[in-house]
Amino acid sequence: MPERLFVCTPSKLGAYEDCPRRYRYSYVDRPAPPKGPPWAHNSLGASVHTALKNWYALPAERRRPEALPALLRGTWVREGYRDDEQERSAYQRALAWLESYVAALDPTDEPLGVERVVAVRTSVLAFNGRTDRIDSRPGPDGPELVIVDYKTGRTGLDADDARGSQALALYAYAAERTFRRPCRRVELHHLPTGTVAAHEHTVDSLARQLDRAEATARDIIAAERSVTDDADPDDAFPTNPGPRCGWCDYRRTCPTGAQTPAKEPWAAVDRPTP
Ligand code: SF4
Repeated sequence: MPERLFVCTPSKLGAYEDCPRRYRYSYVDRPAPPKGPPWAHNSLGASVHTALKNWYALPAERRRPEALPALLRGTWVREGYRDDEQERSAYQRALAWLESYVAALDPTDEPLGVERVVAVRTSVLAFNGRTDRIDSRPGPDGPELVIVDYKTGRTGLDADDARGSQALALYAYAAERTFRRPCRRVELHHLPTGTVAAHEHTVDSLARQLDRAEATARDIIAAERSVTDDADPDDAFPTNPGPRCGWCDYRRTCPTGAQTPAKEPWAAVDRPTP
């Protein structure tokens, strides 16, 4: 019998690379352990992402800054904030980010894809992922695709972040095969600072990221198999303690995470963005 492909998304692979135990709580244990409360920074990010998605759903002549308050209000996720005042301040901040971001866009530009799912199969993986945006831009030998990922975190990003992102590389690899056009450039658009961190991949660098993803998938398959063969799940999926534990949804379930001071759900939106 052929081996079953490992079905994955970037967040599934990333969860295991960050912490095998968090992967187990998210994808293996059933019923899954309860998660902590929702995070305000996730609400903020989701609101901004959906507003930008809906921006491109408008006809080009209606893509004007005046449309943004209604778009953002319509998609606003309220969970996780400390109080109404903090939520209002986050809304105003998000609106300002969007206004300056769309000011630099040509409203007549039609991306090739907005929240488009791309997928690819290898001998190990069945990968799929939802891109924020796929642009088609002129290249020396014809149109080339660019993967655009919106970021709303507090800290800015640089070219190393774009280069090292496995998710962006896998999106590029999958988009190239989905659309049969070159896709080597990946961009992180950081809305709070209005900066773009970009990296131009090569065939080799994309192949290296794919190799890494396949190696992670093999590790996960081996860990899951060992549990089926009666290994202790705590040994098969060890904890990987670090600063991320304070932000982990499973901190209260995890014996290691329980020793880490909890972050308030609104902590990441509490300070003004630089
Ligand atoms: S609390 Fe830390 S060690 Fe525990 S699952 Fe979460 S990230 Fe892993």
